[in-house]
Amino acid sequence: MAAQREWFEKDYYKELGVTDTATAKEITKAYRKLARELHPDKNPGNAQSEERFKAVSAAYDVLGDEAKRAEYDEVRRLGPMGGQGGPGGFTFNMDDANASGLGDLLGQMFGRRGAGGRSGATASGVGPRRGADVQAELTVDFVDAARGMTTTLHLTSDAQCSTCAGSGARPGTTPKLCPQCGGRGVIDDNQGLFSFSSPCRRCGGGGTVIEDPCPTCRGSGVEKRPREVQARIPAGVSDGQTIRLKGRGAPGRNGGPPGDLLVQIHVAPHPRFGRTGNDLTVRVPVSFPDAALGADVPVPTLDGQPVMLRIKPGTQPGSRHRVRGKGIQTKKGTGDLIVTIDLVVPTALSEAERSAVEQLAAASAGETVAAGREPA
Ligand SMILES: [Zn+2]
Ligand SMILES: [Zn+2]
Repeated sequence: MAAQREWFEKDYYKELGVTDTATAKEITKAYRKLARELHPDKNPGNAQSEERFKAVSAAYDVLGDEAKRAEYDEVRRLGPMGGQGGPGGFTFNMDDANASGLGDLLGQMFGRRGAGGRSGATASGVGPRRGADVQAELTVDFVDAARGMTTTLHLTSDAQCSTCAGSGARPGTTPKLCPQCGGRGVIDDNQGLFSFSSPCRRCGGGGTVIEDPCPTCRGSGVEKRPREVQARIPAGVSDGQTIRLKGRGAPGRNGGPPGDLLVQIHVAPHPRFGRTGNDLTVRVPVSFPDAALGADVPVPTLDGQPVMLRIKPGTQPGSRHRVRGKGIQTKKGTGDLIVTIDLVVPTALSEAERSAVEQLAAASAGETVAAGREPA
């Protein structure tokens, strides 16, 4: 697991003095220059340049290999998951890491295999650990989603143990210095030219051991607790979107930063309005005379104040009309209100209406109105 731990903690790009967008050529060039400068033959007995040489070699071992670099970038992107069962979790092919070019390189130069020996550390409790990301779901009202809102999320999640304040030790006791490594968290392995250090197995690299664990969290420093999180939901959030609240996830271990809270949003449907991106959609009933003659028809809006939409004579049912700027306002701009016309056919007619419609029918006899009607 050594490679996994190191990948979280080390900035290989920084070691080589390149940006994370550097090309393979730039990386190789930077490595060769550093390797020449820092080579042990050039700096005999200089422990500092020896350390740097090892670090640079380790960095190039990963960044110089396209597949390993991609994996490393992915690990960096996701961040360390800690030992608290982050979603998914990773497994790396450690055979590959141990058989890596670093070992071969050092082996060739110094007549021993270097990197193969470091192993045995578990991912949990090695140095500061970022807390796990926590998933939550939130159903929001259609109008709230459109306008944005602040809400309180009620979660049950890992929190710092209240009994031991996260130390994992029974109150009144403290974690003891690890007797194996004397609190350093690493064990030196002196062989040949270099001394390689590997994480202490007794304390997992944390440097302390708990002799009398806290009864609440049984030494983990973490307990399940209901908690409330204030969440700002941005205007225009859409169904299925996930909002990341930085630092509101599970607490970190050994002084590490907390994880994030990932809130998946469900937007409840609205009885009248629909949504396409930032555009709102609505259907509006129009009478036959209004559609035939043209009219100003009231159209509902999200803020409750209707707007008047002018429709031309001869407006067709199903036709769509755009009211600019009456959609959803987000930081990225404002959508429109898209109005679809529904033609309303009366279910009952007064005497006067009936005679008027009959006159209309007589006046338009033989026109396309009859098209499609079944012959009697
Ligand atoms: Zn506790
Ligand atoms: Zn130890």
